[in-house]
Amino acid sequence: MIEPFLRGQMMEEPLLVSSMLKHAQRSHGTTEIVTRLPDGTLGRSSWDCVARRAAQAAHALTTVGLGMSERAGTLAWNTTRHLELYYAIPSMGSVLHTINPRLFEEQLLYIIQDADDRIIFFDPHLLPLVATLAPKLPRVRRWIMLCDAAQLAFEAATAGAAADAAAVAAVPGLQDYESFLSGHPDQFVWPDLPEESAAALCYTSGTTGNPKGVLYSHRSTLLHTLVTIAPDVLNLSARDTVLPVVPMFHVNAWGLPFSCAVTGARLVLPGRQLDGDSLFDLLDGEGVTLSVGVPTVWLALLETLRARGRKPARLERLMVGGSACPPALSDAFTEEFGIEVLHGWGLTETSPVAALASPRNTTTPEVAATLRYRQGRPLFGIELEIVGPADEVLPHDGKTSGNLMVRGHWVASSYFPAERNGSALHNGWFPTGDIANIDAEGFVQITDRSKDVIKSGGEWISSIDLENAALAHPGVAQAAAIGIPHPKWDERPLLLVIPRAGAEISKESILEVLAARVAKWWLPNDVIFVQSLPMTATGKLSKLALRREYREFRFPDA
Ligand code: AMP
Repeated sequence: MIEPFLRGQMMEEPLLVSSMLKHAQRSHGTTEIVTRLPDGTLGRSSWDCVARRAAQAAHALTTVGLGMSERAGTLAWNTTRHLELYYAIPSMGSVLHTINPRLFEEQLLYIIQDADDRIIFFDPHLLPLVATLAPKLPRVRRWIMLCDAAQLAFEAATAGAAADAAAVAAVPGLQDYESFLSGHPDQFVWPDLPEESAAALCYTSGTTGNPKGVLYSHRSTLLHTLVTIAPDVLNLSARDTVLPVVPMFHVNAWGLPFSCAVTGARLVLPGRQLDGDSLFDLLDGEGVTLSVGVPTVWLALLETLRARGRKPARLERLMVGGSACPPALSDAFTEEFGIEVLHGWGLTETSPVAALASPRNTTTPEVAATLRYRQGRPLFGIELEIVGPADEVLPHDGKTSGNLMVRGHWVASSYFPAERNGSALHNGWFPTGDIANIDAEGFVQITDRSKDVIKSGGEWISSIDLENAALAHPGVAQAAAIGIPHPKWDERPLLLVIPRAGAEISKESILEVLAARVAKWWLPNDVIFVQSLPMTATGKLSKLALRREYREFRFPDA
């Protein structure tokens, strides 16, 4: 800080999560929030209702002693009740810890203990899991099931019959959410917190080692929200209806629970039925204009669009991120169905949106034609740089690849808790672990995760490029490339392919398609057909699991 300075004479309203809720209640109070319930019916709420119930939740949490800065966890899919907690917990000064229910039990135990959650809200179908976790988590004082009393009784009876009735009965403070809220006032005086205070905690996918906690502040959350709604990013407005397929336990559903409150976009929450047919019906029936998710979800949806021969009625744009969007996928949505594909990039550590592919008026026609194949240019508030092995800054020529570094208003500086983890930065930048090039116009292209790149004869082969090229074969539903140790070349690529149902497909025809798209020395030494590929808990291809599975595999010439 440079002292002395002349202070500006403007109000210093802190940037708080509660300010988004207050705005939504005042300006978009009647705007609908739709949730698909487990039985397939639709529940309808509004920002006014969410704000009133968030106030009740805050009173209830205060009554049971959740303190300032203490963590309250959620194990839940995208629903209105989860949305209420998204606002109640941070707004009262505690910390919302969203937990991915798809993680293995030992990861869940690790994360909940590391975060030191004192109370956990969970979806009804997770009761058997909760009954197993609860005895191992003595510091969690209460477990609240996101349902009403009747459903808790029903679930307890079913889970008790299926699992261990005694374990269910022993879950500490087990209560249903509606009884938990009941009787509390629907107004809460949200405290004037410092904007730097912690709002939410989310653990990284933890592909290696233990998951790491990223602790978002109110300020970083609000700034991320304000920038991601802009025209060159999501172009979000009160005329939109938005369906986040990306779960609310994965980096705050990319900020949509907040950006919809600020803009007044209608929000449609899909629960946990995320197959192509269920999504199509909801997108179509609710007139969704923008939907957001990872490529695997859109691959499934594309099959449904093709089978039904049309797109959901009002669907205009899809945001794709979380892993690279294959060109064949974005071409299909764009060219066959006229849906705009917004390709974005980010990490848990970047809140997550850091870059998005949208053109500017100087973008050359050549770049514009294939813009959506790249991950885009940094949003305002984010800086990107690529560096070589000796930290030298590399040229932005669209060809030279290096380690991608990021810094900005909503980028993590350390992992939670700071005292134990120290800085996560290198020379003031956050090392993303991604390998990328940046072109002269500032558009970044992720060529690989540094751990996934295939190192052959001292050169790098991009596993993403190989997978994208394979997807250009009409008979390929999904593809994954990994490096297999090789005595002469260090590593050589192995390609695993899930064939499209009923497709005519052969190893030779795949190699032919690849040969037209990649250098000869990139061609995989072998192609194996498989029925499925391992996914991470956030719906991404798990290269770690694949490498483990093929650890003993050797090419015949090796
Ligand atoms: P997570 O923290 O689980 O969200 O994972 C972040 C990682 O996902 C990034 O470091 C990238 O490797 C990958 N990722 C996210 N978006 C993209 C994208 N559009 N293209 C390629 N990789 C991506």
